[in-house]
Amino acid sequence: MKVTEHIAQAKDTLISFEILPPLKGKSIDSIYEHLDPLMEFKPSYINVTYHRSEHMFKKRADGSFDKVEIRKRPGTVGICAAIMNHYKVDAVPHLICGGFSKEETENALIDLNFLGIDNVLVLRGDAPKNETFFEPHPNGHRYALELLQQVAQMNNGIYLEEDLQGGIKTRFCIGVAGYPEKHFEAPNLQTDMAYLKRKVDAGADYIVTQMFFNNQKFFDFVAKCREAGITVPIIPGLKPLTTKKQLTVLPRTFYVDMPEELTVEGMKCKTDKEVEALGQEWLIQQSKELKASGVPVLHYYTLGKPHVICNVIKAIR
Ligand code: FAD
Repeated sequence: MKVTEHIAQAKDTLISFEILPPLKGKSIDSIYEHLDPLMEFKPSYINVTYHRSEHMFKKRADGSFDKVEIRKRPGTVGICAAIMNHYKVDAVPHLICGGFSKEETENALIDLNFLGIDNVLVLRGDAPKNETFFEPHPNGHRYALELLQQVAQMNNGIYLEEDLQGGIKTRFCIGVAGYPEKHFEAPNLQTDMAYLKRKVDAGADYIVTQMFFNNQKFFDFVAKCREAGITVPIIPGLKPLTTKKQLTVLPRTFYVDMPEELTVEGMKCKTDKEVEALGQEWLIQQSKELKASGVPVLHYYTLGKPHVICNVIKAIR
């Protein structure tokens, strides 16, 4: 079922989760162990992130180096199929531009369609860790908009092979990313919003946001989206603060501000356990306010902390 169908049928705020594929070599059981405690909250769907390969340098015997490509977290499509099979819950694979040709994307979409997966979250992806700027595959997409257009074409039965007639129309519900505090490369929020509007005009069915720790930033973002004529559902992405280090790492990695009150209280904590308790309480308050404001879904980035998310959802039910 499509994310938008879940939203349309909902009588209350829905819950969804986002997980990462396990590191290469680990079993699917690590995903089930992570998700099992969360399933009592009946998530409407579960997102699975996509991780591009990275370039690494391996030393040869003669001291020179080989540049090799390593994908540390493969398996997004397989995990989505496993989740749907194991829990009978919809899965939302993330699709990225980075590292993919249009043909590879088309093949992935055909696989997803055959597996009965109705949803995709289309993203650009970032530059690999040791590179500064995002560079698309020579025969790939530079922006999420272009990837979205390819999915929308397949939803109209149009494939890359121009002479392919009568191709089946896929029925992907397409999500895109939005940034309440602006995407880090955008010169300002207005420009970023204009590009977001283009994604929606091209067929995006809903927006899911980058994490934020100050609800006012989300409310302002939604108001600006509505002013800009963006009418699709906007789903808040939420992550708990769980370690002291994250007070500086999260702003640096995700370009989000930490509210002063959270920072001051976080700095007073003596252990990460104390920070986790603080972050949990903060997320409970954020979730309660967002729910009261009528958001369609609370989307939690569970990232190795399912117990915190369990406690948050128990507190807001
Ligand atoms: P775009 O919409 O393409 O925007 C990228 C930048 O380009 C923005 O600054 C935008 O303003 C600008 N822009 C857009 N269109 C144009 C244009 N036509 N001309 C000029 N500028 C333009 N990354 C992963 O690798 N895997 C994941 O699974 C993943 N999941 C994510 C889930 C969510 C909910 C979010 C918020 C992010 C996720 N990311 C993931 C990170 C994401 O890939 C990065 O934030 C990336 O830098 C931008 O992706 P985007 O889809 O927003 O890009």
